Amino acid sequence: MTVKIYYIDPYLTEFRATVKKQFNEGNRWIVRLDQTCFYPEGGGQPADRGWLNGIVVDDVQEKNGNVYHYINRRIEQQEVDGKLDFPRRYQFMQQHTGQHLISSAFMSKGDYPTISVHLGDDYTSVEIDNSEILENVLTAVEAQVNEYIQANLAVSSYWVDRENLKKVPLRRPTKREKDIRVVEINGIDYSACGGTHVSRTGEVGLVKYVAIEKIRGRLRVLWKMGQRAITDYAIKSKTLTDLSKQFTSDIEEIPAAVFSLKQKLTDQISETKKYQTELVKLKAEKLFQDAEQPSKVKYVNYKFENQDNNYLKFLMEELLSKGHCVVLLTNEVKQKANWYAGVSEDLSIDLGNILPRILKIAGGKGGGRTKFWQGAVPNTTNIEDFLKYFIESIESSLSHDQ
Ligand SMILES: [Zn+2]
Repeated sequence: MTVKIYYIDPYLTEFRATVKKQFNEGNRWIVRLDQTCFYPEGGGQPADRGWLNGIVVDDVQEKNGNVYHYINRRIEQQEVDGKLDFPRRYQFMQQHTGQHLISSAFMSKGDYPTISVHLGDDYTSVEIDNSEILENVLTAVEAQVNEYIQANLAVSSYWVDRENLKKVPLRRPTKREKDIRVVEINGIDYSACGGTHVSRTGEVGLVKYVAIEKIRGRLRVLWKMGQRAITDYAIKSKTLTDLSKQFTSDIEEIPAAVFSLKQKLTDQISETKKYQTELVKLKAEKLFQDAEQPSKVKYVNYKFENQDNNYLKFLMEELLSKGHCVVLLTNEVKQKANWYAGVSEDLSIDLGNILPRILKIAGGKGGGRTKFWQGAVPNTTNIEDFLKYFIESIESSLSHDQ
């Protein structure tokens, strides 16, 4: 079994060890040492990173009491100097201890048992066995945890057997039969845990809950701790200060200012829509009057540039509602021209019989139903051909009807 230095002293960052076994799996090498500071993945805590004789360790796993280090080339020497990426590990020590405090406070503030935890690169998540939680309970949990932190309580760990375990008031029972490690936070919390922790709660620094996710009928509460919480605070503080300048209001008044702005915007949008409707009707009237009428129907044909698609569809509807007309609207946007073709309901023309043929000749693509099609042609010269073929086809279709 590997001697686990991280249990003896979780603050030790460098060590010397002897290679006990080394083998490869594909292009990765796996090393077992007589002792190690590297914490293997487990209990929601990710594996440590670091170096063995300067070679990067990118994963660490435990099997049957032995710790295996994953590296990308063979270690040639028998003796190795190991070095941890300690800033990363220390964050996990802070987070793991903070998580114990959170899980403990969840119990004391409302009997919310922790189901699982995950110490992530951005957040620590604590999943609780409840589908709802009140905001004031979360606030109370957070306040309790920060009180524990400020009290700078001692964190200790010890091994117990099954018999002695009965005397330990564990927050959550363990199924382990042997090698039971208890992490105690000064009489307030006892857990069976194999992770790494800081030695006093003050080192956790600060704990803040930032979000709640619903998952499989349970809640996953996301937390920031230590330096992450401080960084998060700095970002949010700057964002709110900037917003407060924009709104020329105090930070506390920003939500009301945003609400009022949203309300004004909604009113403005509905007012604008009213004017847009009137404008479209006037435009439709003008286009209809100016349209050519070589035979029985009017051909409304107009070219737009960078026009809003919804405006064009609305204009099309308005024109077609006048009856006895064929409409072709084009809209040049960058390197292509979007087109909208429609015939009024009172004409017995099926665009599905006309447009596929034209698209084959003029190029471009499109689709639609009997009376309305839309599509795009790749450049502006094609649109002239498109229009020519379109009118010819409609005329021919109408003359067949006679
Ligand atoms: Zn733990």
